Amino acid sequence: MTNKIWVYIDQFKGQALPSSWEGIGAGLSIAGELGGGVTALVFGEGVEGIAQEAFHYGANEVLLADDATLAEYRSEPYTALIAKLATEQAPEVILFPTTTRGRELAGMSAVDLESGVLVDITALEVQDGTIVATRPVYAGKLLAKVQCSAKPQIITLRGRAFAKPEADESSSGTLTKVDAVLAEGDIAVKVFDYTTSEAGVSLTDAAVIVSGGRGVSNNPNLEAPGDLSEEEQEVWRAQQGFALVNDLAGVLGAAVGASRAAVDAGYIPYVNQVGQTGKVVSPDLYIASGISGAIQHLAGMRTSKLIVAINKDADAPIFKLARFGVVGDLFDILPPLTDALRNRLDQ
Ligand SMILES: Cc1cc2nc3c(=O)[nH]c(=O)nc-3n(C[C@H](O)[C@H](O)[C@H](O)COP(=O)(O)OP(=O)(O)OC[C@H]3O[C@@H](n4cnc5c(N)ncnc54)[C@H](O)[C@@H]3O)c2cc1C
Repeated sequence: MTNKIWVYIDQFKGQALPSSWEGIGAGLSIAGELGGGVTALVFGEGVEGIAQEAFHYGANEVLLADDATLAEYRSEPYTALIAKLATEQAPEVILFPTTTRGRELAGMSAVDLESGVLVDITALEVQDGTIVATRPVYAGKLLAKVQCSAKPQIITLRGRAFAKPEADESSSGTLTKVDAVLAEGDIAVKVFDYTTSEAGVSLTDAAVIVSGGRGVSNNPNLEAPGDLSEEEQEVWRAQQGFALVNDLAGVLGAAVGASRAAVDAGYIPYVNQVGQTGKVVSPDLYIASGISGAIQHLAGMRTSKLIVAINKDADAPIFKLARFGVVGDLFDILPPLTDALRNRLDQ
């Protein structure tokens, strides 16, 4: 069996990312018009369990490459394998999640297959047998309809833009084992170790995000230790502000985001940055506190389903996008809000 729609399952240390299952959902949404089902590409070592999960989420075929050379994601062996399989079996489309690995692999596969890549797509439809994809452009102010005329069409999907199918543990399909293409000696990159960031819940997969901006350092009532420099005092105050953001995020099981101003000032690491030069997120709920709503920040979060803004300035641009706005000092608002939610959620 060869389906026309292939979905790359991005996994790290034997755990598939939720956006991979959203990819199967996206594939199934166009499978009716393109014909056939969805083939999942599962690469790694000891990943047969992920292949079974792919069946549960709706794939009817899995191409499984289980090999020591694929134990850690590396672009060379992964790209070589995708290029070989796609050349032999000629799928119409290969869908990747817009993760760091997914983006790299999509780009490199497109080079090898002499195709193009449609990136960060938020909707798919089929017109005259060809996929037409929707892509936010100009910081999300316009939606472009784009097509890739070469085959296979290579598309990366924005996280949380497509619904994850309900898993059905009774579903199964055809498991086809395939061999790795490159031997270890042919692979230049070696992975020695990983260091974990302190980002906590992944921003791009989070259903709820609580973000802080430059405003988190603005509490004149907080007396910073006198032996710190002025700059260090600002960071110290920001840490007190971000502690409130973290508390609220903890109660909601949310990820913590930040504006670039907060990152540039050293309040919080870059991995937490949301926006044009940070992460693009699409949670169910986005709470922006002490963030003005510059266009570059909005570019990263404007597709959030529900936006709540807390800002001292009633004219802050973030209020134009927010469904609910609270005009006030975040230092006054966050603690009782967190307490109220803690009580409501019975924690
Ligand atoms: C090429 C380029 C790329 C960029 N990429 C990004 C990006 O990816 N992400 C991003 O965020 N920005 C990005 N920026 C920067 C962007 O233009 C803004 O400078 C930045 O978003 C501002 O961050 P902010 O809202 O935290 O700070 P500010 O604009 O300084 O706003 C702080 C807000 O906090 C409010 N405030 C202050 N004190 C309190 C308080 N106690 N309680 C409540 N509210 C308070 C203020 O009223 C104000 O609205 C980019 C800029 C450029 C040029």
